[in-house]
Amino acid sequence: QYYARIAAHNPLLNVYLSLTKEQALEQAAKVDAAAVKGEILGPLAGIPIGVKDVLTMQGAPSTAGSAILKGYEPPYDATSVAKLKAAGAVLLGKINCDEFAMGSSNENSAYGPVRNPVDTERVPGGSSGGSAAAVAANLAVATLGTDTGGSIRQPASFCGVVGVLPTYGRVSRYGLIAFASSLDRVGPFAGNVRDAAEVLQVIAGQDPKDATSSARPVPDYIGETEKDLDKLRIGVPEEYFGEGLDPEVRAAVESGIDSLRKAGCEIKKISLKHTQYAIPVYYLIATAEASANLARFDGVRYGHRSAKATNLASMYRLSREEGFGPEVKRRILLGTYALSAGYYDAYYKKAQQVRRILAEEFLTAFGEVDAIVTPTAPTAAFKLGEKTDDPLAMYLADIYTVTASLAGICGVTVPCGATSAGLPVGMQVLGAHFQESTAFRVARAVE
Ligand code: GLN
Repeated sequence: QYYARIAAHNPLLNVYLSLTKEQALEQAAKVDAAAVKGEILGPLAGIPIGVKDVLTMQGAPSTAGSAILKGYEPPYDATSVAKLKAAGAVLLGKINCDEFAMGSSNENSAYGPVRNPVDTERVPGGSSGGSAAAVAANLAVATLGTDTGGSIRQPASFCGVVGVLPTYGRVSRYGLIAFASSLDRVGPFAGNVRDAAEVLQVIAGQDPKDATSSARPVPDYIGETEKDLDKLRIGVPEEYFGEGLDPEVRAAVESGIDSLRKAGCEIKKISLKHTQYAIPVYYLIATAEASANLARFDGVRYGHRSAKATNLASMYRLSREEGFGPEVKRRILLGTYALSAGYYDAYYKKAQQVRRILAEEFLTAFGEVDAIVTPTAPTAAFKLGEKTDDPLAMYLADIYTVTASLAGICGVTVPCGATSAGLPVGMQVLGAHFQESTAFRVARAVE
């Protein structure tokens, strides 16, 4: 049924880059046979799930939305993908995204943009735009995405679905094609909070293959989300409701806050004073790390190798010149500049210091409140092409999401209303480190 839906809708929406039908049907048959025999099934047995193309999956290409990785087939599964398979999930295929997860609109994919199923003239958000659109258009029950500066939360908001940013270290990054290693996270999209919790339950946990994954036991997210909300203290930071916030988005988020008040939460005004520095800090750190991570795409080991090269140096240069898109090149240049001798202290080191201050500000706030709620993005989904000529305008739209990325804390985006044009608006619910359960509980009261 899902493959029939994909055949009907993918030509317009451009969500799936490749399908793994043979493997999927094999897995479905296996689950079916186990069910007939009365065996105990995995927690996601038979559930159709799609995977963002920055995560490796054996037997399928992993392009990361880039021409440089066209045709690259990794010989192993990302840990999150392996865990889904082991839980009985049926993996449908690989999903479109911005090139190397760099972007906020899915327009930076070398394979064309994804369209937002709610309004196909609009972007689905990014970089996990395809993963959000897949759930919104019911081309998968749930999907995996990745979030470095907002790439799960913002497309969830634009497409009207639930997206989860797990705490840094909660989900293994093994098999994730790296963008900015100190910020990258893997997390689920689903149609509701409970489904998202079910997927996180499966993919969370320590992994010997990722040294930054946490040894903390994984709590019972599903059980925790059922707990009632009474007396939770909810912080509303004034810096997230200032200039630049679309009035209709503000109204939708305020109605979400009202539902929390009615559910018995105590709503407290708080202040996160350094929020204004988050965009420059994020774009310094993310580009610096990206410039180092992307050095491995040199025409030797993976993907595209230029046919025009005459010697080793020109092979490196031409393979990268032909393989990377303009946004990726821009970031490699920015990152290389920020890391270069003479500038390192002024840019990268300073950014790391401010990052620490931003993180501590959140820690202090979580001493007073159990969760923080904000808009996810300043606007609803914008039109395709609207911001492609203005990278800075595109970067500034990440204002509400990059803070949690820098601080390493967790968050959930949950639909809280719509604009008068019917475009979905998502509320961002932030929790302290490893407090995903609290974020889920709050999000459930809003959906
Ligand atoms: N929009 C942000 C960027 O372009 C975030 C991307 C992401 O989270 N992967 O860097």
